[in-house]
Amino acid sequence: MRRWAAPQNLPHPNDRVTFMGRFLALLAAVFLTAAPALAEKRIALTFDDVPRARGAFFTPDDRTARLVAALKRAGVRQAAFFVTPGNLAKPDGSGGERRIEAYVRAGHVIANHSFSHRPLSTTGSAEYIADIDRAEAWLKGRKGRRPWFRFPFLNEGRADKGKRDAVRDALKARGLRSGYVTVDGADWNLESLTARAVSSGKQVDMEALRDLYVETMVEAAEFNDKLFRQTIGRSPAHVILLHETDLAALFIPDLVAELRKLGWRIVTADQAFADPIGKALPDVPSAQGTLTEALAWEKGLPAPRWYERSSPRVADPIFARRVLKEGPADGK
Ligand SMILES: [Zn+2]
Repeated sequence: MRRWAAPQNLPHPNDRVTFMGRFLALLAAVFLTAAPALAEKRIALTFDDVPRARGAFFTPDDRTARLVAALKRAGVRQAAFFVTPGNLAKPDGSGGERRIEAYVRAGHVIANHSFSHRPLSTTGSAEYIADIDRAEAWLKGRKGRRPWFRFPFLNEGRADKGKRDAVRDALKARGLRSGYVTVDGADWNLESLTARAVSSGKQVDMEALRDLYVETMVEAAEFNDKLFRQTIGRSPAHVILLHETDLAALFIPDLVAELRKLGWRIVTADQAFADPIGKALPDVPSAQGTLTEALAWEKGLPAPRWYERSSPRVADPIFARRVLKEGPADGK
């Protein structure tokens, strides 16, 4: 085969320097624009279902003190706590108001997660909106309050677009915005697996638990960032969904350290929710999940559009094997 079979497709030798120069300039331009984009992975931390029932290790008061200290130690200036005021009347809700104030005193912000935590798909829209109002009445006038609403279970009505639009309109009329999520690693599942293991007297390998928690949340962030770049061509300021858990109180500094090691910058919830992606209102038949998933779906990107360990079916055997040292296929 002749190497120069089609010289007309190549630059003339006299043009070569110019061509190479332009090529290198283009290459440099690509790197210069890509480099900040690569460095710019931003994420805010958010915690749901506050005040939450106790987990495996701490009383609710102890957990809050530890979580506040952990966020401070990790250098997280402002996280958001999505409050479900109905939880205050539950057994572990006692003292919850004081704990919520402690988060705000530490510089964090609070927002609406409905009063009773009902899924929209099985709740009438009028009843659902009244439940948002009831939580908002609790939040009104409190320090640190932000005008954000997070859908319980990230359930936006599934296929019922009429219901979804009724709630979207109601939020708009009240000056509320969606407190959407772009990263979900199902931390609640690791918390409940841990609580179940401890209460049934099983040996929990705490180092393995820490590593699994950190790895799972970080992989969820990386997965969703990649999918978002494919969908909109840039990396948005992300919002990770976490819950007020013992695992967060224990492992937030490790999680934040690992995120930073991989080039993530922790931003405030205010900064994250100021991202233009917050204005998106994806129109997919089932908006149950992250904004990442909904936008990727709307754009027609192929599944999977969710991080695999968000499913307990995938996460549970990994937990059993790594944290409880139980065999993967022992017939249980
Ligand atoms: Zn929730």
